Amino acid sequence: MTTAPHLATTSALPRDLVERLLARARAGGAESVPVFAPATGAKIADLPQSSLSDIDAAFVTARAAQRRWAAVPVRERMAVLRRFHDLVLAEQGTILDIVQTEAGKSRVHAFDEVGDVAVNARYYATEAARLLSPRSPRGVMPVLTKVEVHHRPKGVVAVISPWNYPLALAASDALPALVAGNAVVARPDNQTALTALWAIDAAERAGLPAGLWQAVLGRGSVIGGEVIARADYVDYTGSSATGRTIGRQAGERLIGCSLELGGKNPLLVLGDADVDAAARIAVRACFASAGQLCESIERIYVHDGVYDRFVTAFTAATKSVRLGSDLDYSYEMGSLTFPRQLDTVTAHVEDAVAKGATVLAGGRARPDLGPYFYEPTVLEGVRAGMTVHREETFGPVVSVYRVHSDDEAVEQANDTPYGLNASVWSRDTARARKVAARVRAGSVNVNEGFIAAWGSVAAPSGGLGISGTGRRHGPEGLLKYVDTQTIAVQRGVPIAPLPGMSESMWAKTMTLYFGVMKALRQK
Ligand code: NAD
Repeated sequence: MTTAPHLATTSALPRDLVERLLARARAGGAESVPVFAPATGAKIADLPQSSLSDIDAAFVTARAAQRRWAAVPVRERMAVLRRFHDLVLAEQGTILDIVQTEAGKSRVHAFDEVGDVAVNARYYATEAARLLSPRSPRGVMPVLTKVEVHHRPKGVVAVISPWNYPLALAASDALPALVAGNAVVARPDNQTALTALWAIDAAERAGLPAGLWQAVLGRGSVIGGEVIARADYVDYTGSSATGRTIGRQAGERLIGCSLELGGKNPLLVLGDADVDAAARIAVRACFASAGQLCESIERIYVHDGVYDRFVTAFTAATKSVRLGSDLDYSYEMGSLTFPRQLDTVTAHVEDAVAKGATVLAGGRARPDLGPYFYEPTVLEGVRAGMTVHREETFGPVVSVYRVHSDDEAVEQANDTPYGLNASVWSRDTARARKVAARVRAGSVNVNEGFIAAWGSVAAPSGGLGISGTGRRHGPEGLLKYVDTQTIAVQRGVPIAPLPGMSESMWAKTMTLYFGVMKALRQK
C-alpha cells in the first residue's frame, strides 16, 4: 500500500464561505450540531437545525414561489439549468473543496459528482421541453373527440439525500424537479449540508428565483417525517431500512415517492474476459468514495479459467491505491465518512476472517492517515454465514468467488434481495449482453463497473428488489415529478343517443361502430 507521507490536510473551510452558505439554510439556529471533517477531525461548523416553524416557513415560501415558477415558460427554466451547468464547472475548485472536506473522499471521487451534476443539468436543459410537451392521443370518436395530455408539476418536492454523494444526490435529483415546474425543499444530511447549500446558492446565481429551492437542516429521524408531511412528492436516497419508513409515510399521505436504496452489487468476469482491463476497472468500481457508493461492487464472480490471473492483477492493483484526501488529485481513495462506517467495515472483515476467509489485500484501518481511513480490502473464501456474504458493507471491501460457468455466475449474482447495479466482463459483447439480461439489477454495465450506465443520463437508473422503487435519469427521472392531466374536448355530437334514439338502438349502433374500428385496425 502506498501511503500518504502525512495526515490529510482537509480541515476547516474558509469562515466567510461557511457563514454565507449557512445563511442560506432555513434553520433558525436555536439548536445546532457540530460537524467535523472526517479526514482530519477538524471542526467544519456548528450546523443550525431547523425548527418546525422553519420547516413550515420553507414550505409556505416554496408554494408561493412554485405557483409563479410553473407559469414561467419551460425554455426559460431550462436556461437556468444551462447556466447552473456552467457555474458548477467554472467553480469546481470551491465545490470540490467543500465535498472533500465534508465527506472525506479523494478529489477524483468528488469530481465524479461535478461530472454527474453537469451531465444531468445538460440533459434536462436540452430535453425538458420535449419531455414535458403535451401529447394528443386519439379520442374515443376520431375527429369529434380531441384529446390532450398535459404534464402538471406536483407542487413542492421533498428531496431527502444522504452524505455519500452529497452534490450529485442533492442537485441531480432537484434539477429535473425544478425544470418540471416544481419547488424543492431539500433535507440534506447534516454531515454534508454545506454542499447542498452551495448548490442552492449557485442555482440562484444562475437565475433560479429565490424560495424555489430551499434546505431545511436536521437529522432524518427528527425532521424527516415533518418534511414528508408537508410535501407533494418525496425523493429519497439512503438505506433500504429507512426507505421502508419513508415509503410508509408517503403511503399514509397517498403521495408518490421515489426510493433509491442500497445494493450488494456483483461483477462477473466470464472466461473470455480481458482480465487486465477487468482488474483495473474493478478497482474503480469497488473503491469509489471508499466503497461508500450505492452502485459500488462488493462481490466478484470469476470464471475458474481466469480466476488466478484476475485475482493476482486485481489484488496488485488494489494494493497500489494511494490513500489520502488532500485537496488535490494526488490520492485515489479517501477516508470513510463516519465512525459507524469504520465500525461496520471492521466488523464485516473481522467476522469473515474469524469464520475462515482470507485477506488478499488491505484488511486494516489506517489511523496514521486520519481517524476513519481503512485500506481497500479484498477477501477470498467468503461463504454463506459470514456477514459480508449478503449484507451491504458500504465500505472498501470486496469478496472474490470462483465459478465454473456463466450459469453459476448468474445464479450467485442473483442470490441477493438487492438489485441495483451489476457488471459483466467478456470479449464477446453478444454473450455478455445475454448474461446481463439474466442478472436481476436495474443497471448492468458490460465491460465497465458502474459509470457507463450511471453516466448515460438519458437512460433511467434505479433499483429492483429492496434496492428501491422509482428511477432517476432519463425521461423517467423527470416525469416522476409531474402528474398527467387529460383534457378531452367533444365537438359536434355528444357521446350519447341522438334525440329520439332509444338506448337499445344506441347500444346496437355503438356495437357496429366498435366492430368497424377493429376491422380498420384503429387503436
Ligand atoms: P440511512 O438510511 O441511515 O440514512 C440516509 C439518509 O436518510 C440520512 O441523511 C439520514 O439522515 C436520513 N434518514 C434517516 N432516517 C430518516 C427518516 N426517518 N426520515 C427521513 N430521512 C431519514 O443510510 P446511510 O447508511 O446513512 O446511507 C447509506 C445507504 O444509502 C446505503 O445503503 C446506500 O447503498 C444507500 N444509497 C443509495 C443510493 C442510490 O442511489 N440507490 C445512493 C447513495 C446511497
